[in-house]
Amino acid sequence: MKQEQDYTNGSHIWEDSELFQESAKGVIKAAEELGLSDELIDRLIQPRRALVVTLPVRMDNGDVRFFDGYRVQHSMTLGPAKGGIRYHPDSTLSETAALAMLMTYKCSLFSLPLGGAKGAVRCDSMALSDREKQALTRRYCSEIHSFIGPDRDIPAPDIGTDAQVMAWFMDTYSFEKGHAVPGVVTGKPVEIGGSLGRLEATGRGVIYTIIETAKHLDMELNQDTTIVINGFGNVGSVSASKAKKLGCKVIAVSDVKGGLYNPNGLNITDVQNYVKENTFLEGYKEADYITNDELIELETDIFIPASVSGIVTKDNADRVKAKIIAEGANGPLTRDADIILRDKNVTIIPDILANAGGVTVSYFEYVQDLQNMFWSEKDVNNKLWNTVSETVQRVFHESQRRKTDLRTAAFMVGIQRVIKAFTWRGTFP
Ligand code: GLU
Repeated sequence: MKQEQDYTNGSHIWEDSELFQESAKGVIKAAEELGLSDELIDRLIQPRRALVVTLPVRMDNGDVRFFDGYRVQHSMTLGPAKGGIRYHPDSTLSETAALAMLMTYKCSLFSLPLGGAKGAVRCDSMALSDREKQALTRRYCSEIHSFIGPDRDIPAPDIGTDAQVMAWFMDTYSFEKGHAVPGVVTGKPVEIGGSLGRLEATGRGVIYTIIETAKHLDMELNQDTTIVINGFGNVGSVSASKAKKLGCKVIAVSDVKGGLYNPNGLNITDVQNYVKENTFLEGYKEADYITNDELIELETDIFIPASVSGIVTKDNADRVKAKIIAEGANGPLTRDADIILRDKNVTIIPDILANAGGVTVSYFEYVQDLQNMFWSEKDVNNKLWNTVSETVQRVFHESQRRKTDLRTAAFMVGIQRVIKAFTWRGTFP
């Protein structure tokens, strides 16, 4: 049996974050249930390579500030590495490596011909002006441009980045090459090679996984079904509107500062308009203002954690009352929380399943860019629905066959495809 402390003793520089250790534990559990050797397990966890850069940016006040940036390529066994770029003050090399590892198994689980990567810049994206953000993005792209590309590593948006950041990124990369290269990033504006449906894809995917899971649980989704969402960025906000459209009642949503609660259901369009004007949810009149801790403990049928990692821990897991948790964020539940909630019979749709709608449509965008032919939004959404529902079914099937939880089953499906590719390709040299 693999000793867990092998991955927590700091013998590799990427191992010091909680998210890396938590994610590695999930992979190790699945790999052990598959009966894989220690040597293979090591290969499943350690990233292939990482680049660390320092980015000098001239701020609006005239000073030059230095920001740390990272790009970690966890695996390129199934194809070019794929994964978002995060702008967050708490980002570290180790957290980025953990997120890159999750991308490898997310892409593999969804049968995408892609490996896993992640990038980050340690900065508070809300505190930067547009000019500063553009300078930071162009410098970051320029520093990592020889490491990435449509045939080796394709970034995308994540927390703190959006279509505008991707557009600056694509423009800078294109200048380095001397011609437009739309396939270098996904999540771009439609006018420069983005895909219809990409903006909403992650939230849409979250709701699709809930629909399929509810079928498996014989649970009806209707106007009495209550939904609580932690996080009101792209994923949380789109999940909220799709849930509403499905006919469910979104009773609470939150941002970094706090949440809104209305037991009769929130008017999501109204809340979205309020946020457009006021940036934060605070001050919205048609609901009670609550803390994020209170929101996590609300009585609800479905809980969607859609902000950052480590939101539900052993300290509050016992007080979560949802029947289904769909992980819109990456790593929102610690492993201890996961065990406590499973013991309480909560169905947990793991991150690599629940939030993969984003990377799936990113792959569609990449294919459209390469063939220079673009699909209708209806085509994109239909293809997304087919991919998500097939994958949810595959995970339920694996979980029943192996008598294991959905997270382990999802990792098992993802790992097996990577292992098959390893075996065909062999070890170089
Ligand atoms: N950042 C998203 C994720 O964590 C999307 C990645 C992508 O589209 O490449 O899955």
